[in-house]
Amino acid sequence: MPVEIAVDAPSPAVFTYAMELRKDPITRSWVITGDDRAESGPRPDSACRFCPEATAATQVIAAMPNTVGASWSARAVVHPAPLYHIEGEPGRRGDGLYDTMHSVGAHELLVENPRHDHHLWNASDPEIEWFLRLAAERIFDLKRDPRIKYISLFKDYGAHAGQEFAHPTSQITATMFVPRRVLYELRAGREYFLSKERCVFCDIIHQEERQALRVIEARGDYLALCPYAPRVPYETWILPRSHEAAFERTALVRQGQLADLAALLRRTLQRVRTVTEEFHLVLHTSPNHLHPSKTLGYWKTIDDDYHWHIEILPVLGSKARSYTFKEVYYSPVSSETAVKQLRGTKIDG
Ligand SMILES: [Zn+2]
Ligand SMILES: [Zn+2]
Ligand SMILES: [Zn+2]
Repeated sequence: MPVEIAVDAPSPAVFTYAMELRKDPITRSWVITGDDRAESGPRPDSACRFCPEATAATQVIAAMPNTVGASWSARAVVHPAPLYHIEGEPGRRGDGLYDTMHSVGAHELLVENPRHDHHLWNASDPEIEWFLRLAAERIFDLKRDPRIKYISLFKDYGAHAGQEFAHPTSQITATMFVPRRVLYELRAGREYFLSKERCVFCDIIHQEERQALRVIEARGDYLALCPYAPRVPYETWILPRSHEAAFERTALVRQGQLADLAALLRRTLQRVRTVTEEFHLVLHTSPNHLHPSKTLGYWKTIDDDYHWHIEILPVLGSKARSYTFKEVYYSPVSSETAVKQLRGTKIDG
């Protein structure tokens, strides 16, 4: 029933959202939608707002200690055109059979390096380690907000991959829902564990190491491999061999091992870049245990049945035909062929 509000009544604080979240009633996954008025595409180098000497205002959230020549080595800033806002209430409501809510959450940019031209494939391993430590600290910190269900870390590089800034950056979004792909993985990991009492990712690692058909490289506790059933050509995963559900726990507790992860990430991106410069990179890690959600309450075994990993999805313009449906992925290069080419790449350092 409509409620009339007197014009002079004190109104609650109003926050306007450019974007809203809508739940697909069929797949039960949330999408973010709205009319985006922000500029897109990498900015020209002359106007970089993320270089240390930039004059444009940036809201710094956290910074890692300096390395040679700058006051910081990696830092997190508020995204200049955030999709998610920490202020306000989700205001979840129904519209007939549909569900919608405000895009409450957080949207940060991780400036990977103070140097405009030091990317994850050509920076030094200690520089990449600082970036990984920053990512872990931001995830750890955002998980202290019990409203937040999941924290995504991703990087889009190249015009066809949706890159936004020329400066080396990754992005973090903290959301009140778990993204669809991660939700599928969590459910599948739980089902596998229920029947076998083993982690499906650990089993994949053991089989891939035994067969040695799709492993690109092992470094310390980390493995880079081409998955058995790729979604795109040259899809590559990086996983820890030791079982661990939460990336931030590995990164903050076993800090000594981060040098190996930094080196493997750098070397793997070098390999992928011999095939295409453009890629998506995404970290898949455990959701927020503090979130008082009934659906998450199922996953009492999440520490046993989930296993963090990084997925690299190269963007091959010429191969991206109309066959590439979002649900039935088409990949014209087999993993066994992809691994041979990526393994054979000459790597610097
Ligand atoms: Zn820059
Ligand atoms: Zn595992
Ligand atoms: Zn994954």
